[in-house]
Amino acid sequence: MVGDSESMDRRSFLKRAAAAPVAGAFPADMHDQDHDHQVVPSDPALRTKALESLLVEKGLVDSDALDAIVDMYENKIGPRNGARVVARAWVDPAYKKRLLADAGPAIAELGYSGVQGEHMVVVENTPKAHNLVVCTLCSCYPWPVLGLPPVWYKSAPYRSRAVIDPRGVLREFGTELSDDVEIRVWDSTAEIRYLVLPERPAGTEKMTEEELAALVTRDSMIGAAKVAAPRGGKV
Ligand code: FE
Repeated sequence: MVGDSESMDRRSFLKRAAAAPVAGAFPADMHDQDHDHQVVPSDPALRTKALESLLVEKGLVDSDALDAIVDMYENKIGPRNGARVVARAWVDPAYKKRLLADAGPAIAELGYSGVQGEHMVVVENTPKAHNLVVCTLCSCYPWPVLGLPPVWYKSAPYRSRAVIDPRGVLREFGTELSDDVEIRVWDSTAEIRYLVLPERPAGTEKMTEEELAALVTRDSMIGAAKVAAPRGGKV
């Protein structure tokens, strides 16, 4: 289910948000009892859709431009900040120590701080322990280092299944972990937000900090994926 949500882009999500309330009009006996009952989108999602439709209709904004802006924050600016934090920790043991001991000030050393990132905790992946971050209540997420949360992170299936069956969820992300690897699930809240320090892949010993940062993905810092070794690795 996570895979399905993951593949859903923002545009399809909003489209579904507009259509979903119709589901509430079905009589109870036509209802599939097994499905997730959070099918009707939240009020903010509906309000966003209504506002965006109106602005587009009046020619005040362009849908593609909005998608580009969201994509920029979701995939480029935010996660690139976190990637620099990770790369620094990989190359500088003293920095890594500070980062794991008190993440907020260490992240601020690189210039990243602000709302939704005030109380940060960094958890380190090792060959024996893999960390996965979720917000079971809503969508708490460390904006200064990861940008905006992806749609799947906010989805009800991810929020529940990451806790119930983290190994299965990771498998759906293509992350197979052997049984002897302990999985730790961290529930982000408004008070504490987590960033995963992924394992540095083998074959990257001679890479520069900048090159290392380019390998680090958003999903690896949520814990949904590992950082892949570079193809034809620079050794
Ligand atoms: Fe939340």
